[in-house]
Amino acid sequence: TDVRELLLSRIRDVPDYPEPGVMFKDITPLLADPAAFTALTDALAEIAARTGATKVVGLEARGFILGAPVAVRAGLGFIPVRKAGKLPGATLAQSYDLEYGSAEIEIHAEDLSADDRVLVVDDVLATGGTAEASVALIRRAGARVAGLAVLMELGFLDGRARLEPALDGAPLEAL
Ligand code: 5GP
Repeated sequence: TDVRELLLSRIRDVPDYPEPGVMFKDITPLLADPAAFTALTDALAEIAARTGATKVVGLEARGFILGAPVAVRAGLGFIPVRKAGKLPGATLAQSYDLEYGSAEIEIHAEDLSADDRVLVVDDVLATGGTAEASVALIRRAGARVAGLAVLMELGFLDGRARLEPALDGAPLEAL
């Protein structure tokens, strides 16, 4: 579609970043283009409406940039999932494996309730580790997962297959 072409045209491939052999997908040209940023926000907000989401969770850091305007556009609250040690209140924490070592993310669980259906928003789905841990956090906070929406899925890393059990039927939408 036209939106897909517009979004693709504003993503920059950066070779050997952050390390040799990695082709980094840089979304800053898209953010700098108001037509593309608006089209992306609208498309993600449409997913929020269609999946019946009551909250948007954005994953640090680019998931904040995309998720916050989606929440406003869809008329929903926004909740950040942050790297460990950044949230001031009582948190739930979830660790997950990286290629070398592990990482930990946190959420303010009190901002979610059993009535909530959460749409998780991020820019890029790579291995799916971050998204999988986020879904676990949302469930542990007592809420349901409406779906996962990303700008781009790196299909060759097969994050979708890894995530399928965690999503338990909730949709994974990659624009
Ligand atoms: P995963 O946990 O799926 O392996 O990695 C996903 C996380 O890493 C996302 O939060 C995403 O922002 C970031 N990430 C991984 N690769 C890229 C990339 O090529 N471009 C961008 N913009 N983010 C990436």
